[in-house]
Amino acid sequence: MAARTLPKTDVVIIGSGWTGLAAAYELAQAGQRCVVLERGKPRHDATSFAGPEEHDDLKYAHQYGHMMDVREQTLTFRNNSDQTALPMRRLGSFLPGQGLGGAGIHWNGQSWRPLPADLEMRSHYVERYGEQFLDDDDMTVQDWGVSYDELEPFLDFYEKVAGIGGNAGNLNGEIRDGGNPFEGPRSEDYPNPAMKQPVATTLFAEGAAELGYKPFPIPSANMTRAYENPYGAQLHPCTYCGFCERFGCGYYAKADPIICIYDRIRDHENFEIRFNSWVMRVDKSSDGKTATGVTYLDEDGREVFQPADIVCMNAYGLWNVHLMLVSGLGTPYDPQSRTGTVGRNYAYQTLAGANVLFDEEIITNPFMGAGALGMAIDEFNTGNYDAAELGFVGGGYIGSTQTNGRPIGHQPTPPDTPAYGAEWKRAVREYYSRSGGVLLHGSSVASPNNYLDLDPTYVDAFGRPLLRMTFDFPENDRRMAQWGQARAREIAEAMGHVETIADWNRAAPGQSYSIVPYQTTHNTGGAVIGTDPATSVVNRYGQMWDHHNVFVFGACLFPQNLGYNPTGPLMGLAYWTLHYMKTDYLENPRPLMDA
Ligand SMILES: Cc1cc2nc3c(=O)[nH]c(=O)nc-3n(C[C@H](O)[C@H](O)[C@H](O)COP(=O)(O)OP(=O)(O)OC[C@H]3O[C@@H](n4cnc5c(N)ncnc54)[C@H](O)[C@@H]3O)c2cc1C
Ligand code: SF4
Repeated sequence: MAARTLPKTDVVIIGSGWTGLAAAYELAQAGQRCVVLERGKPRHDATSFAGPEEHDDLKYAHQYGHMMDVREQTLTFRNNSDQTALPMRRLGSFLPGQGLGGAGIHWNGQSWRPLPADLEMRSHYVERYGEQFLDDDDMTVQDWGVSYDELEPFLDFYEKVAGIGGNAGNLNGEIRDGGNPFEGPRSEDYPNPAMKQPVATTLFAEGAAELGYKPFPIPSANMTRAYENPYGAQLHPCTYCGFCERFGCGYYAKADPIICIYDRIRDHENFEIRFNSWVMRVDKSSDGKTATGVTYLDEDGREVFQPADIVCMNAYGLWNVHLMLVSGLGTPYDPQSRTGTVGRNYAYQTLAGANVLFDEEIITNPFMGAGALGMAIDEFNTGNYDAAELGFVGGGYIGSTQTNGRPIGHQPTPPDTPAYGAEWKRAVREYYSRSGGVLLHGSSVASPNNYLDLDPTYVDAFGRPLLRMTFDFPENDRRMAQWGQARAREIAEAMGHVETIADWNRAAPGQSYSIVPYQTTHNTGGAVIGTDPATSVVNRYGQMWDHHNVFVFGACLFPQNLGYNPTGPLMGLAYWTLHYMKTDYLENPRPLMDA
């Protein structure tokens, strides 16, 4: 029983990242009284992320100053269900956020749209290659239940909110030079021009073009000019300062949820945010059919019940799934019987590539970088190549980025250099400004063996069972990574002025997924969207099948992961869900789809 019950609100929103603040903005403007509960602290670009203090490589990039504290909440991890999962006691493979703005503060800002085939992945492969093509025993490939054409206006709106810069490759069906020719038709061009490219990524583009590919600038939330978004937020041009990924931007130049959304809604009469407010569970009505609100711990650690007509789950994909499991929302996935949906289809991201050192004629100036600065090709992403010929589904973009040359994180040396000592120092001095790379940013198919559930042994600081992650790279993705690594090497060889190339592959044969080295904070699935309650947690509007007043946001909705970074797609979905909440659900609260 909660110690204190507060007056009821219309909407309670768990989390203040991109999705939580977008929900608060749209619903508050629609006349709903919104209470946002954020487990972390307040902070602001104007006062919290200013240089030179912010440019502390050790504090923010390596001691994770802006991120989640694993002493309070973490998860346990294992590669397969025969192993005993152990707690992740230090961040590594992924870096979830905490505090106002969530991970949208320390993100890079690469901002993609899903491909039409991504959203209808199962139908795409079945139509092209027949029912037998997908090995359902190993992969649970699904459609999203939302098509590209349906999502397009909402993807477009998000790009305007975040001021994305890029070159349109397909404008209303017209394929245009300089953009991604494989993207779905966009109704309007990017709101801003693409970033200017440095030496290394230009060499990548030249090498890729020589091999017959169509390189284009990675769409970027690092501003390329002064910009005002549809909410009235003003952003400034990026200085290419290089303290971008893992850092907040004190220049108002990286789109983030604070400057793009929070500042425009914080004084609205329908908006309230409570910091240091950690939601413990979502509470349910006695018939179990709806949520009645949430129970949280306030900043003094007291239990508080916040009743609400609508609960929005915006806590980041992993923690949305954890909250569902500890609250008894939906049916947990059972890997033995392969029934149940909460925790099912957890997927990650599959990376491989080639590090390049250039000869003395090339100077790359790596200290000049930005989170989304780079060039890419999309020939090998989902649906853009013949999957029957290559023997895997999914895919990814192959690109080259220049994000930073920071003192601790950027020390390129030739492969045979000692890891410390005088020789290492000499090599770092010599090669610091002569490095580049090519990366496959690959998709991750969902597998029946990869899932999230509750750990039977370990608990968090509040006594709740920890989330348990069971994951290893599916064979399909290992084939894709090996193939992509070879393509990355070919492009690297074509870049010119290359002295050495060192291949790497996180999903190499015989090598299990490791939770230690950073890969991406692109954890997807676990509460997936769809049109069938047997294989999805929410219907195509993001509404839980069995609790119609609970709406779910974030990458937990993805039925399998894309070959892209997730925020563009998940924000497109967020605005899609909010549209249907505002135009349909609020007037007549009910399941928006029949189960
Ligand atoms: C280093 C890094 C680089 C990235 N680069 C890119 C990129 O280039 N492109 C891209 O598309 N994506 C990128 N991402 C991913 C991107 O940041 C996320 O997709 C996005 O921020 C997710 O938004 P969200 O609203 O779902 O969750 P979050 O931003 O994680 O927000 C969730 C919020 O909920 C709060 N919360 C959680 N649990 C509770 C609880 N129980 N009670 C109260 N509050 C709670 C958290 O504290 C957090 O503030 C990157 C991420 C990282 C970490
Ligand atoms: S690189 Fe640009 S967007 Fe990123 S933190 Fe620096 S100024 Fe901001």
